[in-house]
Formats: sequence, C-alpha cells, structure tokens
Amino acid sequence: MKPVTITRPLIRWLAISILSGLLLLGAVDTTVYVTNSGSKYHRETCTSLSRSKIAVSMEDALKSGYEACAVCNPPVPSQGRVVPPKTSPPQKSLYRINKTSLTKSSQAALARMIPGEVVGHVDGDTLRVRIPNPPPELKTLETIRMLGVDTPETVHPHKPVERFGKEASDFTKARLLGKQVYLAFDWELRDRYGRLLAYIYTPEGRCFNATLIQEGYGYAYVSYTFHFMEEFKDLEQAARQGKRGLWGDP
Ligand SMILES: [Zn+2]
Repeated sequence: MKPVTITRPLIRWLAISILSGLLLLGAVDTTVYVTNSGSKYHRETCTSLSRSKIAVSMEDALKSGYEACAVCNPPVPSQGRVVPPKTSPPQKSLYRINKTSLTKSSQAALARMIPGEVVGHVDGDTLRVRIPNPPPELKTLETIRMLGVDTPETVHPHKPVERFGKEASDFTKARLLGKQVYLAFDWELRDRYGRLLAYIYTPEGRCFNATLIQEGYGYAYVSYTFHFMEEFKDLEQAARQGKRGLWGDP
C-alpha cells in the first residue's frame, strides 16, 4: 500500500473540514427560547419571554416554523446552511389505540409510539412535551392532556385547589419532568382547547395515565369514551378499596 504523503494542501483541507464541521455542530446545538403561544424564537434575555419560556434547539425552532425575533436578534442559520425540510427524517404514523384490539394499557407497543421529552409541568394530568421530528399532525412543542384520567384541580383560575391536587401535581412532576416518554393516541386527537390527548408511557412500558389512577392520584375520567375505560374504572375501584392517595382518610 502506498503511504499517504502529508502535503500542505492536505493539512489545509483537513483544517477547513474540521472547522466547518464544528461550526455546523454549533448551529445545530444553539439553544433558543420560544413561548407557549408566540411564533418567534428569542435569546434567553428577551423581554417577550416574561410569560413563558421554553428552551429548544435552534434547529427544532426552525423546523417548527418559528422565526427570529426582531427585538432580541437571536442567532439565525448561517448563510448557505440548508435547514432540512420537515419531511426529511423518517416519521412514524400516530399509534391509535382505538384501532387496536388491546384490552389492557400494558399491552401497547412502545415501538409504535411517538417519543418525546417532558419539558414542562402544568398539573397532575397536563404536561408540556417536546416531540423531535413530529409527524404532520403534531407540533414540536405540545401541551398534552392525559387521556382517561382527571386529577384534582390545582391551577384553575376560578376554583380553589382541591383536596390532593397538590400531591397529584407533585407526583407527576417528580416522575416525568425532564424524562423521556412515549405517546399513544385514541379516537380523538385534541380537546376543545387544542391540547393533545394522549396516553403517556414511560420507557419501561407503563402507562402513566393508569399509574395515576392506580396510585390514587386521579379519577377515571369517564365523561368521554376512551379505549381503556373499563381497565381505568377497575383501577379506580381498587384504589378506593385500598384507600390509596385521595381515597385515604382525610
Ligand atoms: Zn425576542
């Protein structure tokens, strides 16, 4: 084999490749900030972030259609760098539990679910989740209302905090905030507030919606039909009998 002669042009080529590689990585990893409702992305210090502030990578912000704020001038993609189109990565289709014949939430297939990361906590049954490379029906950042479960109120503007509301909210936060989760869906994708309705699974394959009821942190929410209604009703019955969580003596 002929040895490679290290020439001056070769050294220059190597240096340029490594440098541009690092620059590209930097652009991908840049953290910017978005709000719950806005369409712009910002620097961390921008005054527009006083109400809500969610850290995302610049790449995710661009892919979700956010534009640079005109006030704080956050970083923009370097000239000539092509932002990959939304459809470039392989996307899973939504896993709709209502189209399966499953009878127990534990039988659902994690491999068919959409992965996400819990980036914000709202209440015992409501979370903010970041979904990398979302399929067309979903956004990169979603507020998710867990299906089939209702935890006592803690953040309602006109109602007092209900008994065990704080415990339920703390439980969800401790178990899920900052964690990887997997999402499965049912017959209806969103509620009237635009929140995504989902079953949230942990990487161990447990349905967290069911866990909340089982541990006595929430009620089976039966006003609207959902696939695991019978199982969730049974879990609530068992939690009542076991006097767990909100079913315990005051
Ligand atoms: Zn700004």
